[in-house]
Amino acid sequence: MKVAVIGSGIVGSLVAREFTKYDVDVEMFEKLPDVGWGITKANSGILHAGYDDEPGTVRSKYCARGNEMYDKLSEELNFEVKRIGSLVVAFDDEDVKKLEELLERGKTNGVKNLKIISKIEALEIEPNLSREIVAALYAPTAGILAPWEAAQAAVENAVENGAKLHLSTEVFNILESGREYTLKTSKGDFTFDIVVNAAGLWADELAEKAGVKVTPLHPRKGEYILLDQPSLVRTVVFPTPSEAGKGILVLPTVHDTFLLGPTSEDLPPTEKENTTTTPEGISKIIKNVRKLVPGINISKTIRTFAGLRPENDIKDFVIKKEGNMMHLVATRSPGLSSAPAIAEDVVHMMLDGYNVSLRKDFNPYCKPVPKVAHMSDEEREKLIKSNPAYGRVVCRCNKITEGEIVDAIKHGARTLDGIKFRTTAMFGRCQGSFCTVKIMNIMKRELGTDFDEIRKNLPNSKVVDGDVR
Ligand SMILES: Cc1cc2nc3c(=O)[nH]c(=O)nc-3n(C[C@H](O)[C@H](O)[C@H](O)COP(=O)(O)OP(=O)(O)OC[C@H]3O[C@@H](n4cnc5c(N)ncnc54)[C@H](O)[C@@H]3O)c2cc1C
Repeated sequence: MKVAVIGSGIVGSLVAREFTKYDVDVEMFEKLPDVGWGITKANSGILHAGYDDEPGTVRSKYCARGNEMYDKLSEELNFEVKRIGSLVVAFDDEDVKKLEELLERGKTNGVKNLKIISKIEALEIEPNLSREIVAALYAPTAGILAPWEAAQAAVENAVENGAKLHLSTEVFNILESGREYTLKTSKGDFTFDIVVNAAGLWADELAEKAGVKVTPLHPRKGEYILLDQPSLVRTVVFPTPSEAGKGILVLPTVHDTFLLGPTSEDLPPTEKENTTTTPEGISKIIKNVRKLVPGINISKTIRTFAGLRPENDIKDFVIKKEGNMMHLVATRSPGLSSAPAIAEDVVHMMLDGYNVSLRKDFNPYCKPVPKVAHMSDEEREKLIKSNPAYGRVVCRCNKITEGEIVDAIKHGARTLDGIKFRTTAMFGRCQGSFCTVKIMNIMKRELGTDFDEIRKNLPNSKVVDGDVR
C-alpha cells in the first residue's frame, strides 16, 4: 500500500511518521527546500492547555489530547518541551466572568488542574505582572517548544523508518483514476493508494483542485517582536481573550529569549505569502504587552517577524475524508498543540478497513545530536577529545560549535536557514552578523558549493554575488 503526505509542517510530518508505524510505503512531498518552514516556522510555539476551544468544536476534541502526547513525542524525537504553565489575566469583573467561562470550557474539554487564582497568587508566580490585574486562570499543563524542531525530528524519524522525502517538489493536482490517485508535481507524476493533503495555507486550493469542496482559507497575520532579554515572565501570560482571538501575549521561548505578540489581522486570500511586519502592528504589540508587563524593555529587540494563520469562516479545523483522500484544512491555532492527536486519528481513519499490520521494527527514537552548550564540562571535554570541531565555537551568541554545524549539514541542512533552524546558530543577539560568513565557509567546505551558490532559504535568496576578497 502506497501513501502520500503533502506538506511537511507539524501536521504533515507527524501524519507521515504515524503512517511509518504500519506496514505501508510512505512518501512526503514538500514544495520548499526544507521541512517545517510553513506556518510551523512562525508562531507562538505554545502547547495550549485546551480551555480556549468551545466544546463541540473539532479544536476542542484535539487540543488537550495533543498537548498531553507531546511528552512522549519529545522524549522519543529528542526535541525540547518546557511545561511552564500559562496564566490568563483579568483586569476587571467582566474579565473574571470570562475566566469562569474558560474554566468551565476547560473542564469540559478534559484540561487537567485548571484553576482561577487570586491577584496575590498570580503575582507570586509572576512578580513582573501589572499591579492592575484582579485574578488569573492558571493552566499548569501549558508548555512551550520550537515547533520546527518537532517537525524536523518527526520527518527525520519517518525517513529513518523508511519514508521517502521529496523536497522542493510542489504538488499541483491530485487526479483520481480508478482506485488510485496520481499526484501531478513539479518533479513528475506519482501514483498512490492513499493521499493526505496537509498543505497548510494552500490545503483549500489543493482540495478544490482535487474536486473536493472545503471552506476557503484566508491568512490572518500575526506579527511578533523577539527580545534578547531574560524573560520577565516564567509562564505564558495571556490577556483575557476577545472575538479576535487569544490576544497579544508575552512568553519565554525554549531558547531563552522573550517573545511578544501576535497581532491578528485578516488578509485577503491572495496574500498567503505576506509575512511583512508593519509599524502599526509593532506599535500595537508594544502598547498591549506593556499593559500586561509594564517593565518590558523594547530596546532589547533583536527581530520582528510575522506568521500567517490559515483561517476559515467557521473558525475550526476541517478534517475531510473523501474516498482514500484526506484533506486537513484550516489547521489554525491550536493546530500545533493538536497535531499529534490529529495525526493519530487521521492514520486510523485512512487505514480502517485495510488489513495492514503494525511494524515490529518501527524505531520511535531519533538519535540524540550533541548540544554542546547544554553539556556538563566533563561531557564537553570528552566530546571535544573525540572530535575537536565541537570545541570551535562559531556562533558566539548561542555558543554553537563547528561540530554542530557539520551535524546539521549531515542531517539535511542545505541553506543558512536550514542550519539556523537545526542548531540555533544565527538565532541570537547578533542575528548572524558575526557567524554567517563562518557558517558559509563550513558549508562551502562540507558541500563543495561556491559562496554565491549558498542561499538563505528559497532559491532566489542569494546571500552574496561572488568573492569579495
Ligand atoms: C501567528 C500564529 C500563532 C500561532 N500560535 C500557535 C500556538 O501557540 N500554539 C498552537 O497550537 N498553534 C499555533 N498556531 C497554529 C499552528 O502554527 C498551526 O496550526 C500549524 O503550524 C499548522 O501546521 P501545518 O503543518 O498544517 O502547516 P504548515 O506548517 O504550513 O505546513 C504545510 C506545508 O505544506 C507545504 N505545501 C503547501 N502547498 C504545497 C504543495 N502544493 N505541494 C507541496 N507542499 C506544499 C508548505 O510549504 C508547508 O511546509 C499559530 C499560528 C500562527 C500563524
